Amino acid sequence: MKEELIEKIKDLKKQKNAVVLAHCYQNIEIDEVADFVGDSLYLSQMAKDTDADIIVFAGVTFMAETAKLLSPEKKVLLPKKEAGCQMADMIDAQALRKFKAEHPGVPAVCYVNSTAEVKAECDVCCTSSNALKIVKNLNSPEVLFLPDTYLGKWVEKQLEGVKVTTYSGFCPIHLLIKPEDMQNARKLHPNVKILVHPECHFDVSAQADFVGSTKAIMEFVRTSDDKEFVIATENGVVDRLMRDYPDKKFHLIKDSLVCESMKMIKLEDIYKSLANEEHEITLDPEIAQKAVNCINKMFELNN
Ligand code: SF4
Repeated sequence: MKEELIEKIKDLKKQKNAVVLAHCYQNIEIDEVADFVGDSLYLSQMAKDTDADIIVFAGVTFMAETAKLLSPEKKVLLPKKEAGCQMADMIDAQALRKFKAEHPGVPAVCYVNSTAEVKAECDVCCTSSNALKIVKNLNSPEVLFLPDTYLGKWVEKQLEGVKVTTYSGFCPIHLLIKPEDMQNARKLHPNVKILVHPECHFDVSAQADFVGSTKAIMEFVRTSDDKEFVIATENGVVDRLMRDYPDKKFHLIKDSLVCESMKMIKLEDIYKSLANEEHEITLDPEIAQKAVNCINKMFELNN
């Protein structure tokens, strides 16, 4: 049954000249029909460079919006229209304008986990992989950082002399990890490195052996001689690490690290979305242009 569905999706992809993108937090079965698997910006960039007519984004709304921003001529579909990101939804354009008005003249940096309308009002965007570099290359003594307060504060800690004023957003999944979970993991797995995502609380990051984005965590595992790791991020990352490195051992720091929005999408939804070309992302052209400028500024500062 599952195999049949996978074949049907692959046939449809050929017929419609479509690509499927799977974020690393998705149900791992989605990878079986995916052309690319990775973090949100990588996926959007890969899709942009294809000659596909349709992009099916197995992820959440802001990711599909980013794909649309980078590939305006392609049809971008989100298989579940209710798959939103709780962190991205913590700030809208109105709240952002208020935040900026409280800090006049200070450049605003938004995490890619933000809506297109929020990106449209910011000076530059960043990912968890390049946040440090972007803030540093802005060459400003102070920046506003949103929506994620923890990523922003982590950046501030790494960069001496830059004041990072953060908005109060957060990822409820990464905040499930408590400092005591780190201490328990140390007791249970002595001498095993703990790799932590920077969306975690700073009292958690402070105890980590390594803090980095999903991509950086995966790269750390790939290049490390260690054979065992504790992973402090969404469980989809551990599923993929276990599949890709069968000779290494992984412990998810706690079982509840599941982003329900990410896990909404099933193979059936990919099939339906592609067959009916449903849940297309459309953006106001003026907002889209401003949001693209914000993303392009990131590419410029990332060099
Ligand atoms: S894990 Fe957190 S930041 Fe990522 S999509 Fe889910 S709620 Fe948003």
